[in-house]
Parts: sequence; structure tokens; C-alpha cells
Amino acid sequence: MKQTNDVNVLVVGGGAAGLAAAAAAEQAGLTCQVLEAQDRLGGRVRTVPLESGGVFDEGAQLVNGDMGTVLEVAARSGLHPAPVARGGIDLCMVGEEALRAEDLISVEEIYELLEEQVVRWDSFGEALRALRLKWKWWNTPWESVGEAGRGLKLLVEKRPFHRDSLAAALRALLLSPEEHAIAFSLFTEILGGPPEEINAHAVRDLFARYGSERDDAEFHFSRGMVMIIDQLASSLRHTPRLSTPVRHVRHLSDLVEITTDTGAWAADAVVVAVPPTVARNITFDIPEADELAGLLSSFRAGDMIKTLLVFDTPFWRLRGFSGSATFADPPGLAVMDGSLDDGSPPRLIAFQGGPLAREWATLPPNERQARLLRQLSRAFGDQALAPREIAEAVWVDHPWCGGGYNATVRIGGDPDAMARLAAWGGRVRFAGAEIDDRFWGYVEGAVHSGRAAIARIVGEAGRAAA
Ligand SMILES: Cc1cc2nc3c(=O)[nH]c(=O)nc-3n(C[C@H](O)[C@H](O)[C@H](O)COP(=O)(O)OP(=O)(O)OC[C@H]3O[C@@H](n4cnc5c(N)ncnc54)[C@H](O)[C@@H]3O)c2cc1C
Repeated sequence: MKQTNDVNVLVVGGGAAGLAAAAAAEQAGLTCQVLEAQDRLGGRVRTVPLESGGVFDEGAQLVNGDMGTVLEVAARSGLHPAPVARGGIDLCMVGEEALRAEDLISVEEIYELLEEQVVRWDSFGEALRALRLKWKWWNTPWESVGEAGRGLKLLVEKRPFHRDSLAAALRALLLSPEEHAIAFSLFTEILGGPPEEINAHAVRDLFARYGSERDDAEFHFSRGMVMIIDQLASSLRHTPRLSTPVRHVRHLSDLVEITTDTGAWAADAVVVAVPPTVARNITFDIPEADELAGLLSSFRAGDMIKTLLVFDTPFWRLRGFSGSATFADPPGLAVMDGSLDDGSPPRLIAFQGGPLAREWATLPPNERQARLLRQLSRAFGDQALAPREIAEAVWVDHPWCGGGYNATVRIGGDPDAMARLAAWGGRVRFAGAEIDDRFWGYVEGAVHSGRAAIARIVGEAGRAAA
């Protein structure tokens, strides 16, 4: 029973990227149908009500002032961007010590060091620049005896990590042991995976794909990020089809056919707006399918647990803390103040990424939460042990989103996989936060990438017609 639908563009996936692609297609005068596997839209944007009032963004929540497309959609839906609570001491928990984050190297400085020191030796220009840097380092009177000592130690040590891994790159930065432990933990959290398994070249590339000088956590929305999804979806002429997983994409001579569990659809072009790790579950019967399979298998899904803790008082602020803390042990644990400016009760939000998320995902919720509270009490004292409400979202092995926050290129994967997927040509295009060139890994990037995929389709159609 073959059903052929006459739309110009089919969009696989009803997350931010897919909905933005569909809206852009319709604005360009094309007919478009979104097919979504789950029984809801939004993908990694998911907002749920809390027992104590208000909502919990189980997935994406934060934006900054440079994320103009999300802010524009937010403004259209009347959303008020609430500033993230700031002020007080940011902590780094290393061993038994609570260090002030301002006394350690900042994450921005680590990004800069990685950008400078992670080298693609197969590029002549990069290799030359790296050799010049190394020469300069050896000829500079060492400001830090510790750094020189760590450099010599590294030279004689047997390297336990893969040469191209982020773990090896972090070791080579010659940070102090405390800074190294915090950097290792931060990257485990941000990338949702162990730095030993992540490709340093791709990480360097994805930092370059952050189109802002500002912190990524400036604002959030008291009514939740889902309003962005609702706004994008509400403008569509064709209502997205829910519970319609796409299984097969087939290139025919002058169209593309998509097969779902309930039928087949045909269109001039398809935008696959699903994370690369789950796009692998779709069968692509298209030219260069083997090359595509190689690109998709370059990614590993992140693992993430996000936990919201609602309290009666902002006790951390009363003690001079901002609520922000990064834990060297267990690596991958970070917490921030998630309170809103609408008079609702104060909140902390904890992020547990990488192997920690994978391990804690196997525990019963009460045991997982008890472990988290014990860690938080190390940083903020015993009042952290008694939240009024706890809500959590486990993004580990998610069948339709892969995990959280995002997928990254693994060791052995193609470090150019993000750019190559974004540039994939022909009737099948790719979109999504993971392949955006402006805001990799953010909702802003997802929206931008969806719009860009349609712009390329429209641009090519225009050139073909000319
Ligand atoms: C816990 C967490 C916190 C985050 N915090 C932030 C934040 O504060 N700020 C920020 O900007 N970003 C944040 N992110 C990242 C952000 O949520 C994602 O980068 C972004 O939402 C990805 O959008 P997308 O459309 O590319 O992919 P997705 O949201 O994953 O959407 C893909 C869609 O495709 C569907 N799908 C998959 N396979 C198929 C198939 N075969 N057929 C049909 N449909 C299919 C899925 O069901 C899903 O709806 C966070 C993510 C997580 C998990």
C-alpha cells in the first residue's frame, strides 16, 4: 500500500532543527511535511510541570544574548528571558578542598590553549605554526617551574591515551593537577563522555563553532524552552505527523522516497534533522551511502542526567556562594543556580555527564538522588540535603535523541564529519545542532542549521532553473 504525497520537502525529525527547516521551507513557498518518531515535538527540548509550581526544562534551557534566532522566536511567543542568577563565589571541588574558580584557569582560557595547541599534523600550515610555538616555548624563560617540570614528566612518561584524544590534549596543556582535574571534569560534563574517547581535533573545531564571546548561560525562560518549539510548530501549514518514525530513505531518479511504519512519502528533497547517532538507524539507499555511513558512525552520543532541586531558601547565596560548582570527583558533575526572577522558590540545577551519568542511570532514582545530594552538601553544606522537590531527566541511550547534551566525534571518527554532513549535497540534506557552524550543540545552532539546509535546497533549485 504505497501512499505518495506531493510535498516539495519532507523533514525527518520534529526537534528545533526540523521545525525551523519546515518553517523556512514554507516561507520559501515550498510545501513541507515533518515526520516525527515520538508522540511529541521538541526532541531535546522538553518542559514538564513541577509539583511545587512552575516548570522544569528537562533538556535545553539556557541561551545568551547573541543567540538571536531563538530570542527572536521567543519574542514572537511573548517569552520573557529571565537573567540567570549571578554573584558570589564559584567553586571547584578538588579532593577535600573547595577552591575558588577564579583562582584556577578559566574554561575560556582552556579553549584558547586547545585551539592553539591541538594540531592537525597533516596540514602543512598547522604543523609549521605548531613547530614555531614549540620553539618559542623552549626559548622562553619559563615563568612557571611547575609547568616545565610537568612538561619534562610528560616527555618521559608512557602516554596512556590515544594520541588524538581530548584526554591526551588536556594532559599536554601542562595545567596544574587541580586545573587538570577540573578541566577533565568540565569536558566530561560538556561533551557527555570521557575525554579518552573524544576526538581532540573535532573538539577544537566545535569550539570554533561557538559564534559568541559571551557566556552561554545568560538567560532562561520561566515558561520553559518548549514555548520556542510551540512557536515554531504553530506557524506550519502542514501539521507535523507524530509517532511516525522514518525507517528508510531511498533516492529515486527525480525524487526521494521515505518509508515509515505506516506508509511511504515522496518529495523533491529530504532534510534529515535527527542527531547523527540515531540517523544511523535509518537505512539510506542513496548514492554514496557507504561514505554517509562512515560519517554517521564517526559520532558518539553524549550521556547526561539533569536534576532540578527546589529549595525553601537560597542558602548558598546567604553563605556567599553563587551556586556554581564543578566537581573534580566524581568527574562530570557540575551544578548552577537555576532560580528564576519571578518570585518562585530558589533552585539548583545539577548536570551529571559522561561515565557518571551512565553509572547513575542504572541506579534506582532515590539512590541516585541521595548520591547527588551528598556531593552537593560537600560544596554548600547540610542544607543541600533537604530540597523541597527533586525532578530529573535521564538522557542516556535515548532511542530517538541518542543522549545529551549532544553527540561528538569519537576517537577514530572523521574529525571533519560535522562539516561534511552539513555540506552533504543532492536531494538528501542533513540538519541539527551537531552540525551547525555557528552554535554547535545549542538550540540556536539547531534552528540555524535547519534554516541553512532549506536555504541550500532553495539556492540549488534556483541555480538549476536559471
Ligand atoms: C539535558 C540537556 C540540556 C541541554 N541544555 C541546553 C541549553 O541550556 N541550551 C541549549 O541551547 N541547548 C541545550 N541542550 C542541547 C539542545 O537541546 C540540542 O542541541 C538541540 O535541542 C538539538 O535539536 P535538534 O533538532 O538538532 O535535535 P533533537 O532535539 O534531538 O531532535 C531530533 C528529533 O528527531 C526525532 N527523530 C529521531 N529519529 C527519527 C526518525 N527515524 N524518524 C522521525 N523522527 C526521528 C527525535 O524524536 C527528535 O524529536 C541540552 C540538551 C540536553 C539533553
